Amino acid sequence: MKIVQKKICLLGDFSVGKTSLIRRYVEERFDESYLSTIGVHMSRKRLERVDHFLDFFIWDLIGGEDFSTLGSNYLLGAAGALIACDLTRPETVPKLVYYAEQIRAVNETAALIFIGNKVDLTNARAVTDQNLRDAVSALANSFLLTSAKTGENVNEAFSQLADAIED
Ligand code: GDP
Ligand code: MG
Repeated sequence: MKIVQKKICLLGDFSVGKTSLIRRYVEERFDESYLSTIGVHMSRKRLERVDHFLDFFIWDLIGGEDFSTLGSNYLLGAAGALIACDLTRPETVPKLVYYAEQIRAVNETAALIFIGNKVDLTNARAVTDQNLRDAVSALANSFLLTSAKTGENVNEAFSQLADAIED
């Protein structure tokens, strides 16, 4: 079968769960320990589509969220992004639009899926569905609530991104 390759990025503020979401998706596990190094990490995940394989090359920033130091290389060539906030930290919500603007500046047709992560932390939740809907309304009419810890909606988020990219 034909193989189609696409670069995608994880975007969002520090500690919203970007690396954990990738780990959950690619290796199907969750690691409580926290590793911090500097640079970019790339994982590959193969999805079976109707008549081809889709290989996602998933880029993740390690040790920081400041991709400006990498120039536009981090975002260059990305077909789309998952853009995440942390449902326990309202200050991470307005940044969804900031990251969307960053990737759209490099690729104006980039597919974007917005995510509210850590939905398992029900007692600490400080962001409502309506807060999220309002925050992304200029760019999208939907979002997903995920948990890298339980795996809730993690596959769904990546497969919605695949659909949006191949649409
Ligand atoms: P990043 O900076 O966006 O890559 O965030 P990390 O993936 O390193 O996660 C930051 C912290 O949040 C770590 O302590 C993770 O264990 C924790 N974390 C990430 N996702 C979740 C989640 O869905 N639920 C819970 N309870 N903790 C999470
Ligand atoms: Mg990370």
